[in-house]
Amino acid sequence: MERKAAHLAMERQPTGNGAMDMRRGACPTLAAPMQTGDGLLVRLRPVRPGFSLSEIVVLATAARRFGNGILEVTARGNLQIRGLFPETVPSLAAAIADAGIEISEGVAVETPPLAGIDPTELADPLALAADLRAAIIAHRPRLVLAPKLSIVIDGGGRLHLGETSADIRLRAVRDGAAILWLLGIAGTDRTAKPIATLTPDDVIPAVLDVLADLARLGCDARGRDLQAESLIETIASGHALRHPAPADIAPLPVGIHDCGRGGPILGLGLAFGQTDAEKLIALVVDLERLGAREIRLAPGHALLVPGLRDADVAKAQAAAFAHGFRISPDDPGNHIAVCAGTGACASALLDTKAAARLFIETAPELLDGSLTLHLSGCAKGCAKPSAATLTILGAPLGYGLVVNGPASAAPNAYIDQKTIQTAVARLGALVRHNKHAGESARSCLTRLGTDATIAAVQQG
Ligand code: SF4
Repeated sequence: MERKAAHLAMERQPTGNGAMDMRRGACPTLAAPMQTGDGLLVRLRPVRPGFSLSEIVVLATAARRFGNGILEVTARGNLQIRGLFPETVPSLAAAIADAGIEISEGVAVETPPLAGIDPTELADPLALAADLRAAIIAHRPRLVLAPKLSIVIDGGGRLHLGETSADIRLRAVRDGAAILWLLGIAGTDRTAKPIATLTPDDVIPAVLDVLADLARLGCDARGRDLQAESLIETIASGHALRHPAPADIAPLPVGIHDCGRGGPILGLGLAFGQTDAEKLIALVVDLERLGAREIRLAPGHALLVPGLRDADVAKAQAAAFAHGFRISPDDPGNHIAVCAGTGACASALLDTKAAARLFIETAPELLDGSLTLHLSGCAKGCAKPSAATLTILGAPLGYGLVVNGPASAAPNAYIDQKTIQTAVARLGALVRHNKHAGESARSCLTRLGTDATIAAVQQG
């Protein structure tokens, strides 16, 4: 069923003028790649949480052969292959199908990156996710849903998805010896509206009811368009609606995670969310020598490597560092969300990677891990759709600064392109000169207020 994607790509070609067959806001799949500044881009969501090492080699080799060799892991943990041509997308799809790599199409059903191997998770969500995908595909009448609709099934654990926004979310909750699933809509673990607490058997019928409601509202309807009150009435569960406290914020995936009997997990960050085929293949060769068998994709532009022995983790980490991957949770680059930017995306009005380097060199005070800095080529905000403490985005009239909002929000101020360097230096100085002992950059900026931040970038 999933491998149909490969054949779809062969049947549905881009038009001769380069315009792609996709609705605005749709995801760039093998069947409908997206035109960017460096060619076509496809986003691949593996059916399982990760790829085997041999599958990674197939994907990297295909990215080099059929694209420009650049691979990305997105903010939600999907793989992107860039620099493709209309005539090479079918070859990429065929290479993926020939290798038996299962790519998920349709509604995104997302699970935590360590699902099934993290002994601290309350429940393994993988079987439920597979059953739900199958039920959605089998549903008649066919459910026509918004292309970006997402369902999170979060069994908890170290790298849970509590901060990942979703249209529909399921969170495992303990009820004595039993595990129930809290169904919520529209938001993160903290902000979603709770609808029902369900036994595992009741989950799929309830989610299908919600999806049917969305389909009735229209093919662009999202979780925020649903009426929570009416869903609470219609989805009777027999269990009291639970409001458990949100889980603590999950640690960054980069670093070494002690998963007890699950063994150590090595987390690697992709510098600015990207790597290239040569580096990825070189990493795979080293990891295979050290006993790893798979690589999982993680939200936050990261890779997770299970299956290493304690004695080999440091060796694998050193090899990854040598191939250009981030290995430290303290790397200031981990706290900057960066999209492709100019040169790689036709919509970009900001060289996001150059801006990121500028912040690292000029304003390291901001990158203490307490806040996320979002550098976006345009107001679409691909790298971080949710709000960030500070967002700088490319705009027709210079660079927009958004404080405590998403890239799509109206900027609080504009920065002239010629003064970006001094504006960034002033932002750093604002925190450096005003931060109390032990205070984080985020607390400092919050205490000083939005007006002080705006004044800093607009001085002089
Ligand atoms: S945010 Fe804009 S510039 Fe950046 S990748 Fe998305 S569309 Fe391109």
